[in-house]
Amino acid sequence: MVKSKKNKELEVAFLGGVGEIGKNMTAICYANDILIVDCGSTFPSMDDTPGIDLIVPDFTFVKENLDKIKGIVITHGHEDHIGGIPYLLAECGNIPIYGSSLAMALIKHKLTERKMNMPKLNVVKGGDKKNIGVFSVEFINVTHSILGAFALSITTPAGVIFHTGDYKIDFTPVDGESIDLGRIADIGNSGVTLMLGESTNIEKKGTTISEKEVGVTLEKIIQTNTDKRIIIATFASNVNRVQQIISICEKAGRQVAFDGRSMVNISEMAKKLGMLEYKDNTVISIEEIKSVQPNKLCIISTGSQGEPMSALTRMANGEDKEVVIGEQDVVAISSQPIPGNEKAVYTLINKLYRRGAKVLYGSLEQLHVSGHACQDELKLMLSLVKPKYFIPVHGEFRHLKKHEELAISMGIPKENIRLVDIGNRVVVKKKSIQLGQSVEAGEVYVDGDSNVDSLVLRDRKQLSTDGVVIILLNINVENRQLASVDILSRGVVFDDDFLESLKALAEDTFETSSYKNESDRGGLKNNLKRKISRVILNKLRQRPMVLPLLIEQIKEDKDEE
Ligand SMILES: [Zn+2]
Ligand SMILES: [Zn+2]
Repeated sequence: MVKSKKNKELEVAFLGGVGEIGKNMTAICYANDILIVDCGSTFPSMDDTPGIDLIVPDFTFVKENLDKIKGIVITHGHEDHIGGIPYLLAECGNIPIYGSSLAMALIKHKLTERKMNMPKLNVVKGGDKKNIGVFSVEFINVTHSILGAFALSITTPAGVIFHTGDYKIDFTPVDGESIDLGRIADIGNSGVTLMLGESTNIEKKGTTISEKEVGVTLEKIIQTNTDKRIIIATFASNVNRVQQIISICEKAGRQVAFDGRSMVNISEMAKKLGMLEYKDNTVISIEEIKSVQPNKLCIISTGSQGEPMSALTRMANGEDKEVVIGEQDVVAISSQPIPGNEKAVYTLINKLYRRGAKVLYGSLEQLHVSGHACQDELKLMLSLVKPKYFIPVHGEFRHLKKHEELAISMGIPKENIRLVDIGNRVVVKKKSIQLGQSVEAGEVYVDGDSNVDSLVLRDRKQLSTDGVVIILLNINVENRQLASVDILSRGVVFDDDFLESLKALAEDTFETSSYKNESDRGGLKNNLKRKISRVILNKLRQRPMVLPLLIEQIKEDKDEE
């Protein structure tokens, strides 16, 4: 990275979360201080990234500027905002982190699970202000699908940056804590230089429905199915929804059991933090459900996205030790499939139906509401904050583009808006907002305990779609003669004639190669790969991975006789 000496300018570097929904990470830089906002992860799709467990941002920018990094502020505890933290700390060492009690508890849990050193975790609440380097950060309560969500007002020597975080405007939130619109209006009135605004639901008109509506639907389901066992699958992090379900069950005289690792963990965490309240005998462990009549029980489980390892998937596959699905069950899926998960969710629903359960899902009823602001809420936010410059974030490119159009329609000049990609660095000046020199950024693929690069992924995709062909050349090193050729293949089929012709081609390639005189192994392998690949492509229209192996034997078989 080229460092400019006179760099007393406000810069914002986008390390993730723009042009995509996932792995949010932004760096706010002024002179020798850098503040990081969020550090998320993305769940990969099977099609693009076979075998990958998780995608996290490329942390090169942080590593190269480690002496300047003053802290990480977390808007809220969703994975797309905190999932990258263990990987960042593993690469860069401990950096102090600031966020809500729930977000900090979730991060602590991640680090404890991995037996990692604990950085300083600073718990903040709505209204708190923290000085972090040259920055003063105010945390402002917003409503979202997880408790402890904040917008950030970051005062810098070159003006105020307002970051909305993820939010919706819920006037009747379940926990009573509403979005602090009054404070947001005050901040707007005092002058905001740059606003970063989330864009997830820009395509939806009107306003998002209140979380309370989901409670009404779930109550109806529980009231009308008094003879059935109820299983409700939802996001473990939506503590408010879990609270609503528990409260309804207490009223209806049902006991509750949590199923799925994250549901058990997060509920326990939320209970300790005082965010989840229930009577002592309401919640039982999943091992205890056999002692309760099915129609006096409600199981709250993970797996509403059809995740392969989740509790609901285990139940649907008949693999859950404790919960056997049958005609006595009503399964309510209290979420919408996240784009990309539709197939997994519908496969799950089919399996549940096959086992005899009644399944409630989709938008038939208000079984789920979004945690993100729709158009009217986005307009209200822009009109309260009244930023000079605006950068839409937390969206795929079309979302960012539409959010730009919305901002223009509200009177923000086009030249004061920037659409950004991962790796862009924006320089905020008094009279303009400009793209500066890019920073190194991108994706890192995590598979088990190791990082995997894009070349490995390319190989995996090729293997999965076209198979592999191995060409074994047994060579007598002493006289440099070819002893034999073997061709093995997996995932691709050759008939005998074609196999013989490939062997002949391999022999011919060997005979005419410089290997015979100079031992040019690389040259021979490249030629084999190129020629064999071309013949297979011409004949079969397939592109398997071709792996030439030269086996150089010192002794001829004859000598051993
Ligand atoms: Zn979120
Ligand atoms: Zn998010």
